[in-house]
Amino acid sequence: MTRFPRPSRRAFLAGLSAAALAAPALAQSVGTGVDVAIVGAGAAGIAAARKLAAAGRSYVLLEAAARVGGRARTDAALGPAVDLGAVAFSRMDGTLADAAEEAGLPLVAVPASARLFVDGREAPEGDYDAFALALGRVRRDLLAAADAGKDGPAASLVTTRGPWTASVEAVLGPIGCGQALAAVSTLDLARRRPPPDDVTCTLGVGTMLERLAAWTNLRAEAPVTQITNAGRFYALSLRGERSVIRARTVILAVPAAVLASGAIRFNPVLPARLALALRGCPSGAIEQVAFLLPGNPLRLADNETVLAQLGSGPPALLRARIGGSDVHSLRFGAAAARAFSGKGEGGAGEAAAREVAQAFMRSAFSIGELGKAVVSNWSADPLIRGAMAVAAPGQGAQRSLFATPLGRIVFAGEYTTPTGWGTLTGAWNSGEIAAERAIRLTGGPS
Ligand SMILES: Cc1cc2nc3c(=O)[nH]c(=O)nc-3n(C[C@H](O)[C@H](O)[C@H](O)COP(=O)(O)OP(=O)(O)OC[C@H]3O[C@@H](n4cnc5c(N)ncnc54)[C@H](O)[C@@H]3O)c2cc1C
Repeated sequence: MTRFPRPSRRAFLAGLSAAALAAPALAQSVGTGVDVAIVGAGAAGIAAARKLAAAGRSYVLLEAAARVGGRARTDAALGPAVDLGAVAFSRMDGTLADAAEEAGLPLVAVPASARLFVDGREAPEGDYDAFALALGRVRRDLLAAADAGKDGPAASLVTTRGPWTASVEAVLGPIGCGQALAAVSTLDLARRRPPPDDVTCTLGVGTMLERLAAWTNLRAEAPVTQITNAGRFYALSLRGERSVIRARTVILAVPAAVLASGAIRFNPVLPARLALALRGCPSGAIEQVAFLLPGNPLRLADNETVLAQLGSGPPALLRARIGGSDVHSLRFGAAAARAFSGKGEGGAGEAAAREVAQAFMRSAFSIGELGKAVVSNWSADPLIRGAMAVAAPGQGAQRSLFATPLGRIVFAGEYTTPTGWGTLTGAWNSGEIAAERAIRLTGGPS
């Protein structure tokens, strides 16, 4: 996710950039089932699978979609690989970068800095300082409020308004987590310490996760619809299948919003405190629009990030010349992202994407011809349902509940980590931790 330390003009915004039944259904199952069933093959589920495999445990990774990677998805419709979900991650935060390098996947550093554009032009030097000061002030007040045990709306900490206030609010709220600050818990935001996104995979982050899942015991197109506690094991029902999968332990690595939606039924039902905690952390909305912009009219470096502010419209984050190509992408959050929701597939989405991209680019140069565009569809995807789980005001303490297993059901995913929520490495690390817990719960040496 993005970070904004004290800048110089060129080194700015560092890290810019979250029924008990039947026999085993799988040939790979051990005895009458598996030690661990992992539900959801995003970063968290894949990390858990790799850890269990390394420990020699029997497991199955169940993914509802036809592809793995969840909120990391690489699209090639424009030619060069472009990520419509997570675009970069932290090299130092956990083992994700090491795993990619061991698998021979090409990682490149992305500029740990970003530039500030207003109405298509780079802001003057002094504006960078003004922005950094405004951001620093809100961050300091966030920490002070959290220390004092206050958990109101984060928007209440923005007490003075200046020319950069809207951008600061956008970076912490809509662009940073997909919610307006009025809908974000002070405590949750204060605790969040996303490491800088300083590396990416030249094949795309989504493709990187697909490769990391390559040798796992995966079943794609296997949506879990019900999880029943049958005593010594859990029975997992899959849509359209009569037989169930039996597992001694379950790692639940689906998005919080999917759990909150009731798409997976539990027998017995989830405890009320857990259901409340899920409702207290609704999903923010972030969508990305990728488009071809030939000729580098903005004169930006490869993979450079720009915070773009245009008139009184919502700021967006521009990622330029992805992988050295003509592909650029814009990231929008909250209301601006919800405007895309449901239009993500097909012509309507593309038309909306082109319109927005043109609006952001228009004042920078004579637009000429803007190429084809693609747009993400995270909020309307029933398997994802938003960008990341964000605690509502007053609900900041709820997130810690997800760290406690429910019987032998262990929760994993970006939403389970109080400091790394909404990040790829937060999700990956949570999957590894969940696997360790599952091994302990299942018994025997790890
Ligand atoms: C637009 C956008 C940009 C982002 N940019 C960045 C970034 O640059 N850097 C960063 O660090 N983070 C970024 N993030 C956040 C990051 O992508 C997520 O935190 C991370 O990918 C979440 O991983 P996860 O494993 O928790 O969940 P997911 O990736 O959502 O995986 C959950 C999986 O569960 C599956 N599933 C759902 N229901 C079922 C079911 N019933 N049965 C079986 N499977 C099911 C889903 O299909 C999905 O594959 C971004 C997020 C978005 C939306």
